[in-house]
Amino acid sequence: DELVSQIAAGEVVERPASVVRELVDNALDAGATQVTVRLAAGGVRSILVEDDGCGIPAEQLPLALKRHATSKIANLAELESVATMGFRGEALAAIASIAEVSIASRCDGAAHAHRLDARSGELQPAARARGTSVEVRELFFATPARRKFLKTDATELAHCVDAVRRHALARPEVGFAIWHDGKLIEQWRPAAAEQRIADVLGADFIAQSRLLQAGAGPLRLTGRAGLPDAARARADQQYVYVNGRFVRDRLIAHGARSAYEDVLHGQRQPSYVLFLEIDPQRVDVNVHPTKIEVRFRDGREIHQAVRHAIEAVLAASRA
Ligand code: ADP
Ligand code: MG
Repeated sequence: DELVSQIAAGEVVERPASVVRELVDNALDAGATQVTVRLAAGGVRSILVEDDGCGIPAEQLPLALKRHATSKIANLAELESVATMGFRGEALAAIASIAEVSIASRCDGAAHAHRLDARSGELQPAARARGTSVEVRELFFATPARRKFLKTDATELAHCVDAVRRHALARPEVGFAIWHDGKLIEQWRPAAAEQRIADVLGADFIAQSRLLQAGAGPLRLTGRAGLPDAARARADQQYVYVNGRFVRDRLIAHGARSAYEDVLHGQRQPSYVLFLEIDPQRVDVNVHPTKIEVRFRDGREIHQAVRHAIEAVLAASRA
């Protein structure tokens, strides 16, 4: 079972940022209003994610680390309309198979918190307010071959920050803070959606982009599209969400690129933040363990919607 978990880990965990993504997913699924991420040495030495969510009852702590243990869906039918970020129950088990993991958690009504050390299985009383702290130390300590693929701490840190940024854009009502080697490096306070985009991507992105809104019936599209003369537009400012989940999707990227093609002259990468809301029955999020890929039932329709919405923004800005 350890081996199965380690193989699963290979699919889920590529670098510290993958761990950050999974832990923040869990914090948000737990209803956190504040998520604090503390990293040491780019996250390679340690990653600590603290939330003020619902917590995990002491007797369920060992279960949280078990493969295919999820508290989020009870049956396959629910998978059709899954509303939480997680649902496969693989992440913590996978991470615990390739790193030192400990979880401290406290629920409402509990007299105190409990801490579980994954390796020893030891469960001890601990002190903390309601919520959960998951600590992941020495990622890939037992697999030096994988560890060798990691880049410099600065590069790994940048990926970790981007992982939090992706969550922060989608959840403006949640506060986020990122600490690195004891220093506060990012802080995004709860804000309105527009303000959160400004806080996370910079005021210049707001100045050089326009609101986008389209769709009807089962498909709704909102967000911002960068104007073609946006001098600061960068390749990595492309954020796409489907029902609140950050995704990479060729179809959507292609739809966006098509809209920009006439005006960009191949000069710069377009930048955009797109939030797609569609009937959960029309999208399959269970395509890949990282859930970063999705499959649409009406791909053509979505491609067209994205393309037209961005074209409308670009046309209006030139008129
Ligand atoms: P999944 O998110 O797919 O259910 P995970 O392996 O990420 O699987 O987590 C396993 C379980 O541990 C979750 O279903 C949840 O019950 C519990 N859990 C993990 N992190 C937290 C957290 N921060 N707050 C509350 N419960 C958590
Ligand atoms: Mg999860």
